[in-house]
Amino acid sequence: MAAIAKRKFDVVIVGAGGSGMRASLQLSLAGLNVAVLSKVFPTRSHTVAAQGGIGASLGNMSEDNWHYHFFDTVKGSDWLGDQDAIEFMCREAPKVVYELEHFGMPFDRNADGTIYQRPFGGHTANYGEKPVQRACAAADRTGHAMLHTLYQQNVKARTQFFVEWMALDLIRNASGDVVGVTALEMETGELHILEAKTVLLATGGAGRIFAASTNAFINTGDGLGMAARAGIPLQDMEFWQFHPTGVAGAGVLLTEGCRGEGAILRNCNGERFMERYAPTLKDLAPRDFVSRCMDQEIKEGRGCGPNKDYIELDMTHLGGETILKRLPSVFEIGHNFANVDITKEPIPVVPTIHYQMGGIPTNIHGQVVAPAADGSQQIVNGLYAVGECACVSVHGANRLGTNSLLDLLVFGRAAGNHIVGAHKAGLSHQDLPADAAAVSQARLDRLDSATDGEYAQDVANDLRTSMQQHAGVFRTQASMDQGVQKIAELRERVKRIGLKDKSKVFNTARIEALEVENLIEAAQATMVSAAARHESRGAHTVNDYGDTPEHPNGRNDDVWMKHTLWHSASNSLSYKPVNLKPLTVESIPPKVRTF
Ligand SMILES: Cc1cc2nc3c(=O)[nH]c(=O)nc-3n(C[C@H](O)[C@H](O)[C@H](O)COP(=O)(O)OP(=O)(O)OC[C@H]3O[C@@H](n4cnc5c(N)ncnc54)[C@H](O)[C@@H]3O)c2cc1C
Repeated sequence: MAAIAKRKFDVVIVGAGGSGMRASLQLSLAGLNVAVLSKVFPTRSHTVAAQGGIGASLGNMSEDNWHYHFFDTVKGSDWLGDQDAIEFMCREAPKVVYELEHFGMPFDRNADGTIYQRPFGGHTANYGEKPVQRACAAADRTGHAMLHTLYQQNVKARTQFFVEWMALDLIRNASGDVVGVTALEMETGELHILEAKTVLLATGGAGRIFAASTNAFINTGDGLGMAARAGIPLQDMEFWQFHPTGVAGAGVLLTEGCRGEGAILRNCNGERFMERYAPTLKDLAPRDFVSRCMDQEIKEGRGCGPNKDYIELDMTHLGGETILKRLPSVFEIGHNFANVDITKEPIPVVPTIHYQMGGIPTNIHGQVVAPAADGSQQIVNGLYAVGECACVSVHGANRLGTNSLLDLLVFGRAAGNHIVGAHKAGLSHQDLPADAAAVSQARLDRLDSATDGEYAQDVANDLRTSMQQHAGVFRTQASMDQGVQKIAELRERVKRIGLKDKSKVFNTARIEALEVENLIEAAQATMVSAAARHESRGAHTVNDYGDTPEHPNGRNDDVWMKHTLWHSASNSLSYKPVNLKPLTVESIPPKVRTF
């Protein structure tokens, strides 16, 4: 066998979405030798699909400050978010948004030249009193504008991109430090070793573990799989956000910005039912809450259409001019995916999987932390994670809209700064272990030597259907327990996936098979963590744990105000406390969430 090609960098970043490119920019500008790997061309990363906006308390259009943003985010997280990280993010928000503006981001403008801001779910003024205009937007193409801006800045700073390279595994040495990654060059099918003083994972979410998802096909949780296989636990994976307004039957997202601009959800009687559930915030209550109300309406027979199985989003009163100015992509999506002219008729929507709140555990510098043998939380030397694949944790049990793009900027930048600092203090390359590529080589060899076996797509489809069935908007203990069994069986099937086409050049079947090995890690982490959490909190709502006087909304802080850690090798769980202590301000004490 030919020797495996090796290359050496200061830093290897896996992922060229918003978080990866915000971090790489910081590193390239500091003169570090940085390689950014991506399965697709950088500007095709899922960040490009973000529509609604970036949260920052600029106060351009209504009174606002970061304390309100901090409060909303803690409350939105159902008190599972770490308050130090949330304070850090909300305080940094205006700075990173203005910085982006100076990079050339084409935000929409107010008449006075300031950045346009729209209202968004769960974002309020004066601690829950009324909706606030906090989402900084470029029409309904905010992610598109942001990703292109960051890409251009990286080109200028001479960041090196490795496009259509798929990272396979982390390389750890005998002391557990991360010293590089292995990667497959898709064009040639060759395996490479990329050595680095620091590796940063920015691989985005794993939304493709569900059948109905707003996520891109590439969102297969590769970073989660890499971490899990390398012995790093995954945190809070039971918390998955359903976005209230996916186009029924298509899954494509209609941004919350629609409701920010005034769109209304209606049941089959034409009733604006959110007024009943959330008298103050109405259609702009947080996503977990709105999704459950929609599901409730459908369950109680007030869904729309012949099968009464969807809700209608009504934008007809906004007027064609506003829609074409503020929501041009939504107009196109209505036309292309639902055959609806949204200026004239309402569009059918259902809650659709959108975002993972959990991920690879990190501190506010993006450094990955994992429990040592004695149970203490220790930094994994050489490894950072940012963006949707990471869990810092600012979103807790439920993310507020616009806080993800913000998370990418704040923690991408913070991780970049921290890595630069560590390099300045004198980091050096460590020796690669002799078997650096052994795990990846074994994975590839198994696929190449399998003479029969199942199609990766069949296994992936069954996995997605199981997740949809057993980890949906409303969960039951019995169904989650069944889900745990099903996913364990699927893990066995993943081991038997075979490749009919063994060719090397651009063999997408091989890529898909390797992705399924990541999907199963994310899926099992989700199912096992969910079945073990015997309460309802944020997006994890279990019928068995309903509202009682002792535990309003089914949330049980005495037992469950803690982060879950799932360990792949043993398929077992451990827990760690939530940090209720912010950096400088007073803690927001837990309360019952009402809107
Ligand atoms: C339709 C949609 C609309 C949204 N709208 C908003 C919004 O308005 N506001 C908001 O705050 N949030 C929004 N979100 C959420 C937000 O966009 C995402 O959470 C965020 O963009 C994720 O960014 P990221 O940098 O973590 O990853 P991504 O942008 O998903 O990028 C991941 C990168 O990792 C690379 N990668 C993955 N695996 C590998 C591998 N094995 N090897 C090499 N490269 C790899 C990919 O190629 C890609 O470059 C939206 C999400 C969706 C799906």
